[in-house]
Amino acid sequence: MKPRVVVVGAGLAGCEAAWQLAVRGVDVTLFEMKPLQFSPAHSLPEFAELVCSNSLRGASLNNAVGLLKEEMRRLDSLILRTADRTQVPAGNALAVDRKQFAAEITAAIEAHPRIEIRREKVDRIPDAEFVVLATGPLTAPALAEDLQKLLGVEYLYFYDSIAPIVYAESLDEHILFRASRWSDGEGDYLNIPFTEEQYLAFVEEVRNAETVPFHSFEKPQYFEGCLPIEELARRGPWTLAFGPMKPVGLVDPRTDKRPAAVAQLRKEDRRGEIYNLVGFQTKMTWSEQKRVLRTMPGMQNAVFARFGSMHRNTYVNAPTVLAPDLQLRARPGLYLAGQIAGVEGYVESAALGFMVGVNAAFAVRGQVAPEPASTTAHGALRSHLRDADPRHFQPMNVNYGLFPTLDGVRMKLKKPEKNERLASRALEDLEAYRRAVAVQHE
Ligand SMILES: Cc1cc2nc3c(=O)[nH]c(=O)nc-3n(C[C@H](O)[C@H](O)[C@H](O)COP(=O)(O)OP(=O)(O)OC[C@H]3O[C@@H](n4cnc5c(N)ncnc54)[C@H](O)[C@@H]3O)c2cc1C
Repeated sequence: MKPRVVVVGAGLAGCEAAWQLAVRGVDVTLFEMKPLQFSPAHSLPEFAELVCSNSLRGASLNNAVGLLKEEMRRLDSLILRTADRTQVPAGNALAVDRKQFAAEITAAIEAHPRIEIRREKVDRIPDAEFVVLATGPLTAPALAEDLQKLLGVEYLYFYDSIAPIVYAESLDEHILFRASRWSDGEGDYLNIPFTEEQYLAFVEEVRNAETVPFHSFEKPQYFEGCLPIEELARRGPWTLAFGPMKPVGLVDPRTDKRPAAVAQLRKEDRRGEIYNLVGFQTKMTWSEQKRVLRTMPGMQNAVFARFGSMHRNTYVNAPTVLAPDLQLRARPGLYLAGQIAGVEGYVESAALGFMVGVNAAFAVRGQVAPEPASTTAHGALRSHLRDADPRHFQPMNVNYGLFPTLDGVRMKLKKPEKNERLASRALEDLEAYRRAVAVQHE
């Protein structure tokens, strides 16, 4: 009899891992603490909850996360297949209706005959031969402590972020304009145009706003790609205008000019009732968010569906503690999947869930799973976890900087052309992995 695999955490990685095990004929017990207990960022009872943005980021192959998604599509990932089915318009990004996305994944997992679901909080690493820990950046404390005891290393903490969400009907449409960056005509984003004077006044408000103090156990160590707006504002008066408020590629149709700065709002739901202030993660207090963000043009009466916040992130020092197949060196048979393993992002977490599900399915049969080539986006993520400098290890979004360079190609190739070649090499090289791990239908 094949052993049953225990998966802890039904987030993006845990659902993908459980699904890939089950479709390969392995019985799974999936533990999820919701709705008995919610982390500080989760609120839906369903599985695979997107806790912040509803975007799975860029869809184009020119962007490494677009390539990662295309690879997942070809590998038949449950998360990607569901994202494609529940997408909402978002320019060049793949964004989803978060409730429908979570509901469809939950229904698929619940309906699979090989998956037993246990809605329980797990406080100790389960004593089973094969275990997948996929409890995410906000792993409940008792389990995190147990893992820490096993590893004997210190956790690193930094802050990930939630941007505020506002109701569309509370925005002043006479001031905002609709457009996607660089595209002609009406786009998917609502844009808030700032004159230089308005922008500098706003930056001053952000700088002086009251923020939530850190807890005693938290160190203010930010992930560079996800800085709070007040931190950016403090770095210099124009830093925001080069970051989340960059106006490039946007022209206000009322003035026919590029504004000095632009804040972008992206649809959160299919019907477009609520909008997310893109990149506006913040540690400002709720009352300050209301006051300061309402000083933005067209936001004077904004009603907030959700305020922004910043949260703890839990992850291990992957190059030190993980074996190449994502098992813990300290305890073979115990796999880490998702953000806790040291990647950053929804898509990356789900991709690790896929690889761990496949690896564990092979291991249950006494086999070693093949590896995706390092030239693929999946392989590049694995290389980061294995080869990054352990002294400065930080979770990473997938990016073309992680890929091996192109052989025999002129150095001076322009970036879009280079990325295009990296993507086509990756998709070609993925094929061998796809065939080797494909589900064998009896
Ligand atoms: C506040 C915040 C905002 C983020 N915003 C974004 C974003 O906008 N875009 C992006 O790409 N990434 C974002 N991330 C990063 C990250 O990619 C996501 O958190 C992603 O959901 C991680 O996937 P995961 O499967 O590893 O964990 P999760 O999706 O968090 O899933 C973990 C699951 O395990 C459960 N669980 C935890 N502990 C236990 C336990 N002891 N017993 C049983 N169940 C347990 C949880 O309830 C949860 O359902 C954000 C992270 C945080 C913390």
